[in-house]
Amino acid sequence: MIDFSLPEDLAAERDRIRRFVVDKIVPYERDPRLTSHGPNDELRQELVELARAEKLLTVQAPEELGGRGLTHVEQAVVYEAAGWSTLGPVAMNCAAPDEGNMFLLSKVANPEQTDRYLMPVINGHQRSVFAMTEPGGAGSDPGQLATTATFDGENFTINGRKWLITGADGAKTWIIMAKLEANPHLDGPIPEGPTLFLAEGGTPGITIERTMNTMDRNYVGGHGVVNFENLVLPAESLLGESGQALRYAQLRLAPARLTHCMRWLGAAERAQSIAVEHAKTRTAFGKPIGEHEGVSFMLADNEIALHQCRLTIWHACWLMDQGHKARHESSMAKSYVSEELFKVADRCVQVLGGIGISDETVVEMIFRDMRAFRLYDGPTEVHKWAIGRKVLRD
Ligand SMILES: Cc1cc2nc3c(=O)[nH]c(=O)nc-3n(C[C@H](O)[C@H](O)[C@H](O)COP(=O)(O)OP(=O)(O)OC[C@H]3O[C@@H](n4cnc5c(N)ncnc54)[C@H](O)[C@@H]3O)c2cc1C
Repeated sequence: MIDFSLPEDLAAERDRIRRFVVDKIVPYERDPRLTSHGPNDELRQELVELARAEKLLTVQAPEELGGRGLTHVEQAVVYEAAGWSTLGPVAMNCAAPDEGNMFLLSKVANPEQTDRYLMPVINGHQRSVFAMTEPGGAGSDPGQLATTATFDGENFTINGRKWLITGADGAKTWIIMAKLEANPHLDGPIPEGPTLFLAEGGTPGITIERTMNTMDRNYVGGHGVVNFENLVLPAESLLGESGQALRYAQLRLAPARLTHCMRWLGAAERAQSIAVEHAKTRTAFGKPIGEHEGVSFMLADNEIALHQCRLTIWHACWLMDQGHKARHESSMAKSYVSEELFKVADRCVQVLGGIGISDETVVEMIFRDMRAFRLYDGPTEVHKWAIGRKVLRD
């Protein structure tokens, strides 16, 4: 049976979230604390308190950790509504990278690590980072990871350099990917794959060299270049099993790449609504521009893309709710949705004419913020490469 209808309570919650975002969050889009490096921590905390007051904070968290334990399909509906403003997910604590990090930690962290590193993030008091990408080569190809960890029987010592680390400035919960080096204190053979470690922001040995100047500004704290120089972490900092970092990263990435799709779908809808309004009211050559086929076709293409993207997301979510890993489907969704929604945003800029590239409307910000979506959590080409290999193999 295929049933695309939404349960009444879920539809009502979607509408409540949309109203919350429109009434309480959208007014902050012109707040100077939304800086070129993203919302600052003061703004984030203010937004988080608004969501907390409405019982909309971290609703995706597992029930035993204080959330509602949403299914993937429920998440799709909730995140799309939150995404109407890029600040919506920040307020509701379901923005990247915290959302993916919370998911990973809820699956892998032990009880002590959960209390120390996860719960403060779920409660909205702390932020987290996932530090994998490196200037030397580890990006699409994490096999090139050069950051090392050595064990002396008591502590790990981490050395390496990372970049594009979202939220590095000010985050307290750090998940760091490094490769264990051979040494006599390790039991058994050295694992081939890299390992994840937990650290607290501000620990000596973690230096944020700088926050990069990027074209997006929706992520709290921006994106940092980080140096680990003799970062000493106790043995209990090991997250999960050694050598399993890539497996855990996959665990995080499959749902995380879908949640990006959900949030950006909401933002693209917002851009479309602004473009539609403009097309109805702006006139050229004796009629509203929307009555010129060139413009109405752009709006129609957007409508089709938004619908297709929603169906693609919902299908992958539904599969995951049935217990499938849906790696292939989430990969197809990520590459398709990121490319299509960016085209939607681009057409919205075009419909707006010259003001499309100005901050007279939020479309310009959505366009810039959304560009990076085609790169992170697997660039389109890398997803297509994997999809192509599967097609040929099967
Ligand atoms: C806004 C933003 C936030 C990010 N946040 C984080 C974060 O918090 N933590 C973190 O660790 N990283 C983060 N990243 C990094 C992100 O994970 C990488 O940018 C991504 O994995 C791509 O790696 P790269 O930038 O090194 O590009 P590269 O791997 O160097 O790729 C460059 C180009 O080569 C193409 N390419 C690579 N391999 C293939 C292939 N097999 N076939 C065809 N084309 C290929 C890619 O598609 C791309 O177009 C972030 C990136 C961005 C843009």
